[in-house]
Amino acid sequence: MQAERERMPGTVGLVPTMGFLHEGHLSLVRRALADCDHVVVSIFVNPTQFGPNEDLERYPRDLNRDLKLLDSALGTRHSALAFVPTIDEMYPPGFADWVEVKGPLTERLEGAHRPGHFRGVTTVVARLFRIVRPHRAYFGQKDAQQLRVLRRMVKEQRLPVDIIPMPIVCEPDGLAMSSRNMYLTPDQRVVALRLSQSLRLAVELVEEQGVTDSSAIISAMRKHLSDSAHPEVSKGASPLEIDYVSVADERTLEELETIDRPALILLAARIGATRLIDNAIVVPKDMPFSADLRSLMEE
Ligand code: AMP
Repeated sequence: MQAERERMPGTVGLVPTMGFLHEGHLSLVRRALADCDHVVVSIFVNPTQFGPNEDLERYPRDLNRDLKLLDSALGTRHSALAFVPTIDEMYPPGFADWVEVKGPLTERLEGAHRPGHFRGVTTVVARLFRIVRPHRAYFGQKDAQQLRVLRRMVKEQRLPVDIIPMPIVCEPDGLAMSSRNMYLTPDQRVVALRLSQSLRLAVELVEEQGVTDSSAIISAMRKHLSDSAHPEVSKGASPLEIDYVSVADERTLEELETIDRPALILLAARIGATRLIDNAIVVPKDMPFSADLRSLMEE
């Protein structure tokens, strides 16, 4: 990779992924191709961002499929490549080069439910940055907290990389695309739709009905998420368990009691053994959207 990098004049864009690519990943790749002279897509299931009881072993992997998808997204561009390092290359024996963002940003939400997760993410991304030396790196708003943690890392470490945020890409029925969706049985997939439905409900409450009380929004969402009257539950599909529903300041992710500024509504839930996350940006009624926020919203 480092030898290839020497042969890349002009701007370089990096799209870090864990593979099992879908349209969400490909939207990042296309944007990078449009923006940069060269594009590197990394595919690496990063063991250090998984907890001991998480799905590292069964995380879906299919490199041939990924490379075919990338081939069609990359078209005839010779200026793009896939970087598929081994675990030993990323973590050589004696590895001690951990990179960590400390403080509330990494302690709440995903940080609270997945101890050590963000330390794994920042470590692997910092290492990818050192190897690939990109000018820009593309990340999805799907992992909203990760995006903000990585921005903070770049700022704290003064890394010469622009972090480019990209909107969430969803399935036609609203389910946010995720490599983990392949774990879901058809019944569980119906239950999973409640995540995006409850977020739509929250957006409507804030932006159309003018609700600003976060606790009212959270209880409406929790009610929709756990509604046992849903027909698919009575059919015996596994129920949904909520990890968190949170209304937070869009930039700092501090909990907001009243939505008096752009906010991020984040949720995580488990359906059987599958853990899913999703989020939506809301702006109080009559407050204009900034161009920055627009670029994060679904297309
Ligand atoms: P992952 O392979 O899950 O680690 O994701 C790699 C990158 O793709 C991350 O920046 C994710 O935020 C982004 N990504 C994953 N799913 C989506 C999606 N549905 N829409 C937009 N970006 C996504």
